[in-house]
Amino acid sequence: MSTDTLRFTLSPNLSISRITHGHWRLNNWNYSPKELDVLINNLVEIGVTTFDHADIYGDYSCEEIFGKTLNQNPALRHNIEIITKCGIKLLSAKFPERKIKYYDYSYDHIVNSVEASLRNFNTDYIDLLLLHRPAPFFNPEEVAKAFSALEKSGKVKAFGVSNFLPGQFEMLQSFTEQKLVTNQIEISPINTEHLDNGNIDFLIKQHVIPMAWSPLGGGSIFSNSDERSVRLNKVLNEIAMLHSVKSVETIIYAWLLNHPSNIVPIVGSSKFERVKTAVEAQNINLTTEEWYQIYIASKGHDVP
Ligand code: NAP
Repeated sequence: MSTDTLRFTLSPNLSISRITHGHWRLNNWNYSPKELDVLINNLVEIGVTTFDHADIYGDYSCEEIFGKTLNQNPALRHNIEIITKCGIKLLSAKFPERKIKYYDYSYDHIVNSVEASLRNFNTDYIDLLLLHRPAPFFNPEEVAKAFSALEKSGKVKAFGVSNFLPGQFEMLQSFTEQKLVTNQIEISPINTEHLDNGNIDFLIKQHVIPMAWSPLGGGSIFSNSDERSVRLNKVLNEIAMLHSVKSVETIIYAWLLNHPSNIVPIVGSSKFERVKTAVEAQNINLTTEEWYQIYIASKGHDVP
């Protein structure tokens, strides 16, 4: 079975691996910089070169944890792509002046957030910057100005969004010189919202590749603690047997990878072998009937 990871070109100066690795939970993994270096190098060897962060992950600690590894092994920076996000202001002991959690998409906040991310990562450029969430108070002219300044200074190569709906995506795109290259949204057999609300159809129309966060529902798919996960596990196990694969995770990733919208899963596991199952899933072709068996198990009823 091939363990090469495909790549997607998102813009003239940025390509990402088809399977990406998410670092939301990095602060809980308790890896030393050396141990993290080993994991990252093993992933790069199987073609997983793109790492997803956000300024706020781990109460503003995850970027810095990754940065310590990059500091120890600077050559690694040339072999990987870093995605990070901005826009959410968390209540945190690190920002004692804040009274509430809120969103800030002002020019100053976006630019300052990127500057902080660059310091945290020990790098001088971010490959892809995403706006973390849509916001009810949002000035697209400020965002456009920030994107242009960050592009011109070489601090960010490409731009995108996360958790946006089509109208929000189009609105921002109409103001920015830069093409928005992705929308990072939650997609898994346990959360089919964006397959149902027109968002994925919109992204196909725009030729924009969706990134799927929590592709295993954060591990909740395996809980067998509610009717949906029980139904899903039964069907996933049956399909895994038919395809002679050991792990149902492979079938979950294949369900995402087989979708015509070119979904890029962001694998959130701390374990190399589990990320490898996502890479191996690129070799699994599900039939359309199998794809719908999983979808219907998620819904708990037939399609209309
Ligand atoms: P996930 O891959 O759905 O879940 C990962 C979790 O599932 C880990 O705790 C992992 O534990 C566990 N897991 C994996 N296989 C398992 C198994 N067979 N049995 C039991 N547990 C299992 O992804 P996620 O971490 O929720 O999210 C992935 C990435 O998406 C994040 O790191 C972040 O980069 C991104 N994200 C983005 C947003 C956004 O708003 N843009 C929101 C959330 C997340 P082990 O470590 O032990 O394998």
